[in-house]
Amino acid sequence: MVEKYEGIVIKTIDYGESNKIVTIFTREAGKIAGMARGAKKTNSRLAGPTQLFSYGYFMIYGNRGMGALQQAELISSLRAIREDIFKTAYATYIVELIDKATGEKERNPFLFELLHQTMQYINEEYDPDIVTNIFEMKMLNVLGLYPEMNRCAVCGNTEAQFGFSIKENGLICHECFEKDPHFFPLSQTSVKLLRLFYFFDIHRLGSISVKPETKKELKNVISLYYDEYSGLNLKSKRFLDQLDKLKDQI
Ligand SMILES: [Zn+2]
Repeated sequence: MVEKYEGIVIKTIDYGESNKIVTIFTREAGKIAGMARGAKKTNSRLAGPTQLFSYGYFMIYGNRGMGALQQAELISSLRAIREDIFKTAYATYIVELIDKATGEKERNPFLFELLHQTMQYINEEYDPDIVTNIFEMKMLNVLGLYPEMNRCAVCGNTEAQFGFSIKENGLICHECFEKDPHFFPLSQTSVKLLRLFYFFDIHRLGSISVKPETKKELKNVISLYYDEYSGLNLKSKRFLDQLDKLKDQI
């Protein structure tokens, strides 16, 4: 039996002299893996489409255990990502997060769209920090996390100065700051952006320009939340953090 999938390559592992095991996140069936025989050879028709981040159509044979990836058709190689070490680092984190947050064959077309759109934005000239933060906020529900972003997580206040509380799992208003002495102070711009990232439709991202100090705040609060609740410790995220420090030094 052969099935055709639209997908993005999120992981590849070399297997033997010339083969690759390719993990693809697909629109039709979520995460699936396939054995691509000969794909490591540069003259293989599979060499291009089975590279990390490739977006295309994949024909997989067999329905028990791991199928054989015998044909693939590239739609886009996301070349700008491949040619830029910083973009590559962001995209590597995105695909690792998808891989770690999902099980095999859990169909989720919404998540495919999110991945697809996020990779397109990074491939284009959008700010990869902001695109990554949006992706992280949108992945929270996939990870089973539901921070309160509409109102104060303690008293329900909707009109206030807000900070973020790890302990209370969401925004906390100035009247409740004492309930969590370790609350994370936020500028009101950051509050607005966090809400926007969490709730809005990613296809509607216009040009967005965010001040460096706001970007730092967003990154710190999202990282803190992930460290506390996601249960993930990703190599690609540590690498991104190292790159950040490097950028600060330049
Ligand atoms: Zn409150």
